[in-house]
Amino acid sequence: MFIYAGKVAIRCYFYIRYNKKMLSPQQIESKLNRILLRVQKPGRYVGGELNSVVKNWDDVKTKVAFVFPDIYDIGVSNVGLKVLYDQINQREDALAERAYSPWFDMEALMRQHEIPLYALESKRPLACFDLIGFSLPYETLYTNTLNVLDLSGIPIHSADRDDSHPIIIAGGHAATNPEPMYKFIDAFVIGEGEEVIHEIVNVIQRVKGQRSKVNGDLRPETCDRNEILHELAKIDGVYVPKFYVTNYLEDGTVAYTEPTIPEARKLVNKRIVAKLPPPPTKFLVPNIDVVHNRVSVEIMRGCTRGCRFCQAGMITRPVRERSVEEVVEAADAAIRSSGFEELALLSLSSSDYTYVKDLVDAISKKFEGRKLTVSLPSLRIESVSIDLMEKLKQRRSGGFTLAPEAASEKMRRIINKYIPDEDIINTTREIYARGWTTVKLYFMIGHPSETLEDVQAIADLCKRVIAEGRKVAGWKVKLNAGVSTFVPKPQTPFQWVSSDTRESVLEKQALLKRELYKDRSIKLSLTEPEDAILEAWLSRGDRRMADVVYTAWKNGSRFDAWKEGRKYDTWMQAFAEHGLDHAFYTHRQRRTDEVFPWEHIGTALRKNFLFQDFRMSLEGQIRVDCRLNCFACGILPTFANLRRENPGKGWMCPDVKSPATKVKSETVNSNQLPVVGD
Ligand code: SF4
Repeated sequence: MFIYAGKVAIRCYFYIRYNKKMLSPQQIESKLNRILLRVQKPGRYVGGELNSVVKNWDDVKTKVAFVFPDIYDIGVSNVGLKVLYDQINQREDALAERAYSPWFDMEALMRQHEIPLYALESKRPLACFDLIGFSLPYETLYTNTLNVLDLSGIPIHSADRDDSHPIIIAGGHAATNPEPMYKFIDAFVIGEGEEVIHEIVNVIQRVKGQRSKVNGDLRPETCDRNEILHELAKIDGVYVPKFYVTNYLEDGTVAYTEPTIPEARKLVNKRIVAKLPPPPTKFLVPNIDVVHNRVSVEIMRGCTRGCRFCQAGMITRPVRERSVEEVVEAADAAIRSSGFEELALLSLSSSDYTYVKDLVDAISKKFEGRKLTVSLPSLRIESVSIDLMEKLKQRRSGGFTLAPEAASEKMRRIINKYIPDEDIINTTREIYARGWTTVKLYFMIGHPSETLEDVQAIADLCKRVIAEGRKVAGWKVKLNAGVSTFVPKPQTPFQWVSSDTRESVLEKQALLKRELYKDRSIKLSLTEPEDAILEAWLSRGDRRMADVVYTAWKNGSRFDAWKEGRKYDTWMQAFAEHGLDHAFYTHRQRRTDEVFPWEHIGTALRKNFLFQDFRMSLEGQIRVDCRLNCFACGILPTFANLRRENPGKGWMCPDVKSPATKVKSETVNSNQLPVVGD
């Protein structure tokens, strides 16, 4: 093991010697000392947070750097990355460190002073690590990802990397369609990472270990990239794009994507964990103010509601819950170890957590008399939610957030989020009556088939909410209406629809401004139409988009989700340079028989299930919560073995019979088999 570690150290030495950009941790620290006082928030770049893990570099075989390619203030609170950081650092033979995207001021100084991007714990350049794992929860991080590679001195294109470079992997919701990034990422993790990250580290150790034995000398440690990638392609849930080829039809749509080696699967299905592993309890405590200074405990994963616009709800199925005891214990341990005074109980739909009332009681009892703010996001619009928030003693000045998403009967049916006006009015009236002065309502415009009347309904509902609030609580009541623009996402029932055009979105936004700016008690927040359009072409792009992403980055695009970084013209030029039309990706209704660029990536949802749901939306039909009626989305056949091994209530999907029982039943009478379907 120590010979192995020594070789890694030698590899870094060789980098330093032959690549002038590669500096030692001491050299990096000394350069940082000279520049940090010249940037906006030096605390973003120094590490040293309480609960960060600093292991002895030479004591472990495998070094992993996890990168959240957005600014530290956002990335440090990301729960997914925390989970993986925790998983790897629990191993004795590996370490995990972190890096984030430097803000513009820091990037300029790093380039000027030739400081490579480094991990916060050891201050070692990212290029010294064996594995770099990018978290890609949203597509607007793509150009930042390229920038991180460039700042690290690692070739941006996977094909240009050699055995001396780290293996670059990426995961997160954006990996649902990895194709626009296929040229830059060596391997994508599809689905949940808790188990598969260990399998990836094991492959790297095994291949490198074999190589060390064969060579038996002290040359710099290299990774035998091709062999590692072949081995990674064999792991369930790992997609190695270089082993696939895509062919196109004359109209520019995809004909098919197929593997080029036997090890690569035709369909790379997502990974899930059968049971949620214990949540992390050592939360990093940043030394500066960040977006979420809090402990977050995931109470449940997945969602059974079936909102048709919601990619997270579709791709994180099945629903798996943690027990109340586990959540309370983890929250207590995390609060003790961090000193945070805020606790977030996370899920996509908190009201649907089976034991939500018990959990709220247990949390209230456990932390009684302690200075702690508890948030329970994504609550249903009903008075029970207010009772829950009251029990948690939510600070009323913070506002009460609800997400109706649409305001007309027609749109609620189309998006499958059916909440009658009266429920919204009654609930918000009650919220005001119980002392909250601010209600936050989230809506989306740009849904399929939406007209100006549907947008007018949003304005009318907001006015009604505030008028009813005034009746019970007077003129102090306020309403914050956040209206974002819908982006059709892969692996959802709306993957076939066109995005709303910029002109149409502007017209709808103008209507809302006209209607709502008059009332000073209503604060309207809108998103830039260009942001949604950019996200739309990145979400449903094919492999040809990779050149567009590269050119846009090369010409200055980064931090695409930030107004400081937004460069729409740069993207337009990049499309033109590569002879592509952005409207092909954004404003085009997909053919019903179209092969999607992400067709070889499986989230276990049957395409037919999604298509049927899309057809139902066109007819205004809603689907009930699938806890009440399983719609055979595809989860159970894909994960039948996992479900069988975990019977009972941990999962919200129906139990599956053991193969032996099933064969017996079929022999007797196939009509008696349990029916799962519409
Ligand atoms: S298998 Fe049935 S219950 Fe499970 S997520 Fe799919 S539709 Fe819902």
